[in-house]
Amino acid sequence: MKSLTLLKKYFGFESFRPLQEEIIKTVIDKKDCLVLMPTGGGKSLCYQIPALLSDGITVVISPLIALMKDQVDALRLNGISAAFLNSSLDKSSQDSLMEEMKENKIKLIYIAPERLSGGLTTFISFLKTLNVSLFAIDEAHCISHWGHDFRPDYLLLSKLKENFPDVPIIALTATADMLTRKDISEKLHLKNPQLFISSFNRSNIRYIIEEKVDHVTKILEFVNSHKDESGIIYCLSRNNTEELSEKLLDNGFNAAAYHAGLNPDIRNRRQEQFKRDEIKIIVATIAFGMGIDKSNVRYVIHSSVPKNIEGYYQETGRAGRDGLPAQALLFYSSNDFLKLKSFVSVEGNPEQTKIMLKKLNQMADFCSSYSCRREFLLNYFDEKFSAPCGNCDICLGSVSSPSFDGTIIAQKALSAIVRLKERFGIAYTINFLKGSDSKKMYEEHRFLPTFGKGSEFSVDEWRNYFRQLIDQRIVEQHGEFSILRITEKGRDVLYKDLKVMLKEFKDKKIVKNERKDRYALNTDSDTYNHELFEELRQLRLRIAQADNLPSYIIFPDSTLVELATFFPMNKTDLQHISGFGQIKIGKYGDEFLSVIISFCREKKLESKISEKIKLHSPRVVRIQNSKNSSDTKTESFEFFKKGMTVPEIATQRKLNENTVTDHLIYFILTGDINVLKFISKEKLETVNKAVDEHGDLKLSLLKEKLGDKFTYTEIKAVLNYRNRKK
Ligand code: ADP
Ligand code: MG
Repeated sequence: MKSLTLLKKYFGFESFRPLQEEIIKTVIDKKDCLVLMPTGGGKSLCYQIPALLSDGITVVISPLIALMKDQVDALRLNGISAAFLNSSLDKSSQDSLMEEMKENKIKLIYIAPERLSGGLTTFISFLKTLNVSLFAIDEAHCISHWGHDFRPDYLLLSKLKENFPDVPIIALTATADMLTRKDISEKLHLKNPQLFISSFNRSNIRYIIEEKVDHVTKILEFVNSHKDESGIIYCLSRNNTEELSEKLLDNGFNAAAYHAGLNPDIRNRRQEQFKRDEIKIIVATIAFGMGIDKSNVRYVIHSSVPKNIEGYYQETGRAGRDGLPAQALLFYSSNDFLKLKSFVSVEGNPEQTKIMLKKLNQMADFCSSYSCRREFLLNYFDEKFSAPCGNCDICLGSVSSPSFDGTIIAQKALSAIVRLKERFGIAYTINFLKGSDSKKMYEEHRFLPTFGKGSEFSVDEWRNYFRQLIDQRIVEQHGEFSILRITEKGRDVLYKDLKVMLKEFKDKKIVKNERKDRYALNTDSDTYNHELFEELRQLRLRIAQADNLPSYIIFPDSTLVELATFFPMNKTDLQHISGFGQIKIGKYGDEFLSVIISFCREKKLESKISEKIKLHSPRVVRIQNSKNSSDTKTESFEFFKKGMTVPEIATQRKLNENTVTDHLIYFILTGDINVLKFISKEKLETVNKAVDEHGDLKLSLLKEKLGDKFTYTEIKAVLNYRNRKK
């Protein structure tokens, strides 16, 4: 059977996510591969589908027992025979399981690495009696000292290749820098492994960052507007978690604290309750989250700053694994950074300390920057991405109050830098501007003309303005001490009165009343029936409790959203709902249908399943017949919608980048892509002016008029944009 058919039959999914299909092909061809995909990217299917496609057994190594059980439960619900082997099983269950494996009754066996250390040779000889078709090493970074979560037991896996030279290995991880990747590949003795790196853009996560002013009230407001949803709130200390969870409880929210100081039983219980939606909000130190794959965490709040961008990305990544909209809200303060400064220094290791401090500074830059959060994050991880992303506080404009003419402010800052001979950092320059009487101020500086000329602003305000000047490339920082210096543009500001627009300080607001239907599907206009969704959620909860499983394992939220959008009326209709594989239709179909049918009867609603079928059927045609030009455009667009960048789409589709760009630009015309994805606002205006001035010139002539600063792509984008408006 084909992979796509299996995807539909067992998992009820309509199409593969980026790279999944290629990875599956590689594995089926018996080649080794290393897969880097963000959390929620869909790594599991990359070995689960091959497992279904091969005769033998697939052995999955996974470090966390809790996760293993969830995965196995989820597979079984879909009618796939899977099992796990770990220390939680007693001897007789282990024996009977091994018997089943011998009889080739198990497709996927999940094994904890500590199981190998027990008696490696015996275990390997046991595996040799089976027909092993694939080894999948999940969380593969655990094998590397360089990774952040080294597990000695993983080193035993280096024995696999020599014992099973013909069995392919797929290694998967969401976090591995160059060094770790190399290490994984070497330690596992992978043979010419094919490397797959998917985009790390989590486009469904909305990033919001605020200064910490009255943050507890804001958190209360936030959770109040997300009442029925699950969320994680990270705090810096155990005390903080206790205090905040008390506060939430006092205000009637269903919250609990979680930290390393609690006894393990309590911790496990709370984690389990959170998974089962019995606790809605977990207030935790960073210790929480590793061991759960809960797909419907709708928000992650940082009540104070993480130590580095890596941590921030990982923790926020626990939101929205199901691909539905999710929020990441962070509060920061200069105080947080001060505290962390002492935390991150590693005693007796100045080298390490320096690295940690640098990372902390980057975190600070991230918080105070006025540029697109996603662009910053992805660029940090060396992935190309250009603003605007359209889904962070900056791009949504919640931060940017109307800008004002800040030329005078900028000139004050610049002249201070000049007076100080471009030899000081932000802190000193601000003290200088404020006319500080600090002893650290050089005596001779007190007599310079600009000294004290900026006393109207607080230190924080100045910091913020400096940050904006840096963002606008008017000022830059260099060297180990981040010394300020003036750029070419800065000189124009200082000496030629080039106008500078700044944004008001302290006007960051949480996007509080954002659209109510946070579960909206891909397009903005899609909405679902909230009342029905709620009924379906209750039904799911009843089933989950009866089966003693977390709700999200029965169905992800996205399935319920589809049901409450398209109102399927029978089992054939259900085949078009994502998450309803064959087995689940048989097992749960009637229960869900009966709720939907009676709801629709009562509210006089008609099924909209035909819209869903329309949504998907052209896809199939496209795949079979991608020569048609409008289809090939749409195919590029589909990938784009999934958050892939132009180079990624080009690689995926084996097309030239220019071709892909051309495809995408077309969708400016249809209104599906914002023109600002391809050109900056300023440049857009210039092109607009040129077209207005010269009339509808030919593209090449227009390009000539505009000069080298403009690419063909940009000009074409604007023309399409104008045609759209027409
Ligand atoms: P990872 O291991 O990379 O964090 P998972 O394999 O757990 O991610 O997948 C995350 C979620 O995405 C799961 O709920 C999974 O069912 C869903 N998913 C994966 N692939 C697809 C797909 N092709 N279509 C729809 N949903 C998918
Ligand atoms: Mg996973």
